[in-house]
Amino acid sequence: MEKALSYKPLWLRKKIKMSDQSAMERVLSQGRVHTICEEAMCPNIGECFSKNVASFMILGTICTRACSFCAVSRGIPLALNPYEPENVAQTVLHLGLRHVVITSSTRDDLSDGGADHFYKTVRAIKALDDSILVELLIPDMKENLLALERIVHSGAEIIGHNIETVPRLYHVRKGSDYECSLRVLGTLHILNPDIAIKSGIMLGFGERDDEVLRLMEDLWEAGCRYLSIGQYLSPSHKHEAVVEYVEPKRFEYLKNRGMEMGFSHIKSSPYTRSSYMAHEYLETK
Ligand code: SF4
Repeated sequence: MEKALSYKPLWLRKKIKMSDQSAMERVLSQGRVHTICEEAMCPNIGECFSKNVASFMILGTICTRACSFCAVSRGIPLALNPYEPENVAQTVLHLGLRHVVITSSTRDDLSDGGADHFYKTVRAIKALDDSILVELLIPDMKENLLALERIVHSGAEIIGHNIETVPRLYHVRKGSDYECSLRVLGTLHILNPDIAIKSGIMLGFGERDDEVLRLMEDLWEAGCRYLSIGQYLSPSHKHEAVVEYVEPKRFEYLKNRGMEMGFSHIKSSPYTRSSYMAHEYLETK
């Protein structure tokens, strides 16, 4: 394992104001919903919650995989909450969200990977207000074709699956496979070429620019046209160590190269996360 960096550069010293979060936390707790903002300890939480923006996490808060970078708890998940789709929909309406991101833990224990629960959540939101744009960020669902079809037919406008890093560094995604993630993105695109396909990666594991550019080409060839690139920050000393704090100008360089390849929108900066400023992506469609 790489030695942890002992300092954060100036561009990564963001202050989190807890006071900005409390009103939102009340709404989320009353709605009996979970957010990836809290579960993943997202550094943008103060900013997003103060703007009434949150990204929901369904299928419970316990993941069946063991990515070494991720703050989400791992273990044996609880049974699905059948009220969760409606709870999420009501909370989305209450917050007045016009573009909502919904993700989940990976549920390898479920035969459909949780696809039906995603489907029901999108339908519950659309039943309340069909004009709300829904973005799903799904696990690979073990490439289960029926599950991916269910996802594509949910009515979501944008579907994402994060490839996370370059193939050489896939030890940080234990239990997952680079080619499998590419095939998932490609299958989603083939099932419905009109749906916007998005992916996300993190820098800071020790990847080289040539590897990232090759990854971006792979994504583009799979039909992915939207991409987020952010800096990996280690949630604790027990998680994967940060190998490098990448300078903002390198994020800009990769974004420009990706736009030259033909991507429709790339958000690339140290604090970019898959759901950060998610409404911006479709504005370019
Ligand atoms: S960037 Fe996404 S996950 Fe992070 S706080 Fe904002 S909405 Fe939540």
